[in-house]
Amino acid sequence: MQSEVLEGVSAVDRMLDRLSRPLLPGVLRIQQGIVRATHEFMFKKGLTQVMPLMLSPITDPLNHGVVDASIAYADTRWSLTKSMIFHKQLALMHPELESIYIMSPNVRLEFADRAETGRHLFEFTQIDFEFKNKDRFFVMEFMEDLVNFVFARLNAELPELLLELRGELLPLYEKWPVYRTEKLEAALGPDYEMLQSKLSDTPFWLLNHKREFYDKEDQLKPGTYFNYDLVWPLGFGEGLSGAERENEYKQILKRMTETGTNKEIFKDYLEVAKQGKLPRTAGAGFGVERMTRFICKINDIDDVTVFPRKPGHASIF
Ligand code: AMP
Ligand code: MG
Repeated sequence: MQSEVLEGVSAVDRMLDRLSRPLLPGVLRIQQGIVRATHEFMFKKGLTQVMPLMLSPITDPLNHGVVDASIAYADTRWSLTKSMIFHKQLALMHPELESIYIMSPNVRLEFADRAETGRHLFEFTQIDFEFKNKDRFFVMEFMEDLVNFVFARLNAELPELLLELRGELLPLYEKWPVYRTEKLEAALGPDYEMLQSKLSDTPFWLLNHKREFYDKEDQLKPGTYFNYDLVWPLGFGEGLSGAERENEYKQILKRMTETGTNKEIFKDYLEVAKQGKLPRTAGAGFGVERMTRFICKINDIDDVTVFPRKPGHASIF
């Protein structure tokens, strides 16, 4: 506190500067355009909107560590939502719901080593969608269509702003290239995802990541998974993750053991799976701020948000 005063710039002054960043209103307007067009696309395609939850006894275990964010209430331990993956599966148990989506705030208290990636916030909004009885090919094509729909809308509705922020209108893409993690890694080494993102000028799909227990494993080729990530080009990196979901009890148990997941926390979810009630689903979630960042060509995702949410950094508001 004292050193801030000595330097003559207080935390309040810094915040006031931040709140007056010249590009911010335009960036927020683009983000609003993304959300508006996405709602329209979802409505046209027949997906039913479900409201988000911020607390639940179970949430996404993620495939990387974050600081615990849970609270005690009514004799229960409630976690702040890291993603609504399990709630999407459970909501689709309704016989008349075929597909849903959620504008879902996520809290992931990422460690400070992710502060300077340009891609990480410790809270953000994910647009999370899920289909019953569909496969990965369907979801990938759905997302490609969504991106073109949103981009065409922005070109039509906010052309001057796009020219100001990114120097040109948004491209509309043909079918996206598809890569497999193991092949890219063999060709490019451990940093393959970012290297391929830098080499590409269109979004691409990256298949077969080894991660959480809920991604379906290929029974014909154990150790490979029916999952897919959208990677934004030009070095912007991952923008969406999705998968066909594991819904078979025995397979879920096996994958929980492999991934070191705490089965006790998931006992009621496991009971639903044991009863054979988990529907077969596939879906994905994309980060709104990451799409905004890509569209506006902003290096630091913290410049997309009004208030700072950089991993490991304090904020006064
Ligand atoms: P995940 O299923 O963990 O890959 O999260 C889904 C999507 O949410 C990612 O592809 C990103 O677009 C976005 N996302 C995940 N973590 C963050 C974060 N810490 N900050 C901003 N966006 C994120
Ligand atoms: Mg991911």
